[in-house]
Amino acid sequence: MTSQPDIRDLSLEDLESYLRSVAVKPFRAQQIFQWIYKKGALGFDAMSNIPRELRDRLKQDFVLQSHEITQKLIAQDGTTKFLFCLYDHEKIESVLIPTPTRTTACISTQAGCKFGCKFCASGIGGFKRDLSCAEIVTQVLHLKQEALKHQRPLSNIVFMGTGEPLDNFTNLMKAIRTINSEQGINIGARHITISTAGVVPKIKELADEGLQVELAISLHGYDNPSRNVLMPVNRKYPFDELIAACREYVRKTHRQITFEYILIKDVTCTPHAVSSLKKAFKGLICKMNLIPYNPVSEFDHKTPSREEMIDFRNSLEDSGVHATIRTPRGKDVNAACGQLRHLHNK
Ligand code: SAH
Repeated sequence: MTSQPDIRDLSLEDLESYLRSVAVKPFRAQQIFQWIYKKGALGFDAMSNIPRELRDRLKQDFVLQSHEITQKLIAQDGTTKFLFCLYDHEKIESVLIPTPTRTTACISTQAGCKFGCKFCASGIGGFKRDLSCAEIVTQVLHLKQEALKHQRPLSNIVFMGTGEPLDNFTNLMKAIRTINSEQGINIGARHITISTAGVVPKIKELADEGLQVELAISLHGYDNPSRNVLMPVNRKYPFDELIAACREYVRKTHRQITFEYILIKDVTCTPHAVSSLKKAFKGLICKMNLIPYNPVSEFDHKTPSREEMIDFRNSLEDSGVHATIRTPRGKDVNAACGQLRHLHNK
């Protein structure tokens, strides 16, 4: 590891206090932030309105590390998948998803994943380590740059890449504050989505953070037994406790929750699942994102037919649960969670 910290690990306030500690006026922090987050400077030498002496000092005390691009794949629909290599050779994925109305970055929060969901490529190679705040923010900066090639600038962030965001809570919160801050990347909190496999205590903590971010829950099961099979995390934080934490979150934050639900033939896409979900969601304001299962060779699941998925959606809607089927993006570049990293490590 490099011995100096990455300057992107610092909030504006951190940078101001660092400057004070080296007897430099704190207003320089705003200028440095502008260089990093607005102008995308890749080194301290580019910061032309910063006195040379201070630039040298910054170079001594910090690094400004870009991610090395191991692979970049552009799908026919414009979805662009990056495989980045970190200082310790760990690989992480980030995906840019341009649409006519928004440009979304899908960001990783950990190298590997310890949650081992039985449909997801991210968990297959196990867990390596948490990403630092700088490593999270730097993915966003790379994708912001890439987004300039598309119709719209980067507008949305989803933490749906490799890893469990709420299992790296401190670094995630710090990164979100820089991504959200006006002096930072300046993406509105409502345009930032945290997706979780259901780490119940952290959902409670998130409710107390006072951030206006969106919360998505990877539900993928319709009751306790079905979720136990697909998501080992359910043994620790069972289905009913998770739904109760969601109700509490909505009550506290007055924000709606999105549930993600993978459609797997004869497993999650069944009439029994509909009646169970209807019961679980009673009185809860939420919407469901139905995600067609994207085959991963290690698992034995099948994607339902288009008709089966539409029937499933319609019966949920008939039961009063608002549901939409997500259009798969970037299929030709293995864009589902962890697939590219997994293929690379194989
Ligand atoms: N750990 C967090 C963040 C990762 S996002 C979480 O679980 O929410 C994980 C998302 O990737 C899942 O909700 C699902 O939408 C998607 N995903 C993973 N494997 C998939 C597969 N084989 N097919 C389709 N979507 C998949």
